[in-house]
Amino acid sequence: MTRSHFSTLFAFALLSASAIATQAQQGAASSDQPKPKPEETEVWTPVPPVVTPADNGAPPSDARILFDGKNIDEWVTVKDKSPAQWNVHDGVMTVNKSGGNIETRRSFKNYQLHVEYRIPETITGSGQARGNSGVFLASTGPGDDGYELQVLDNYNNPTYVNGMAGSLYKQAIPLANACRKPGEWNVYDVVWTAPVFNDDGSVKTPAYATVFFNGIIVENHFELKGQTLYIGKPFYKKYDKAPIKLQAHGDKSEPISFRNIWVRELP
Ligand code: MG
Repeated sequence: MTRSHFSTLFAFALLSASAIATQAQQGAASSDQPKPKPEETEVWTPVPPVVTPADNGAPPSDARILFDGKNIDEWVTVKDKSPAQWNVHDGVMTVNKSGGNIETRRSFKNYQLHVEYRIPETITGSGQARGNSGVFLASTGPGDDGYELQVLDNYNNPTYVNGMAGSLYKQAIPLANACRKPGEWNVYDVVWTAPVFNDDGSVKTPAYATVFFNGIIVENHFELKGQTLYIGKPFYKKYDKAPIKLQAHGDKSEPISFRNIWVRELP
């Protein structure tokens, strides 16, 4: 080894030793800091309200009952706000097609909704004309104005997929066909996040819907492009709170029935 090689190696060794010493010092310094405690990331308020759950789709303790099989008092006829004229019998309500769409007396913003419906065992018709109804998650005007979660018998009945049961009509194809056969009860559990608008009517945040159909997720936080439209592209129309609406569809098939409808308002 030449002298200069030795010098270089010696210098390198010195540098390395000093780097290790510095690291050791830094380690010592950081260990002087107070050690994080698990309590620092614990949150104790606000305390969630106690809600008593229920079995088999029955309403939890804080739900607002929209239909419990006894009467139709929470519902009005859409076109003139008169008492709803659908037929309540045997703990269910059956669509009265000549009575028109009905909607809740009350208005809602964000919520969790539970709805059960049954297609008659004797259903006839095909395509969109077989047990057609709908749950409008926000009824923003007369007729079919609003955001429709489609109700239809698709147990063995093809139609356009963005118009089948579990679709957000003409916008969101369901992730699965979870229809039960006619004569059995189907269940929708929905989380609705209402759109928020600026003062000038423009959209601040869009609407979102999550839908479970007989316990199977069919819409997963889907972002809507606006209200439901039968023809044309959807667009938003400013509203704040809105009723929930059920559709009396004009097709000739036998009327369907609803039961056990409840809602829990969300922040
Ligand atoms: Mg419909």
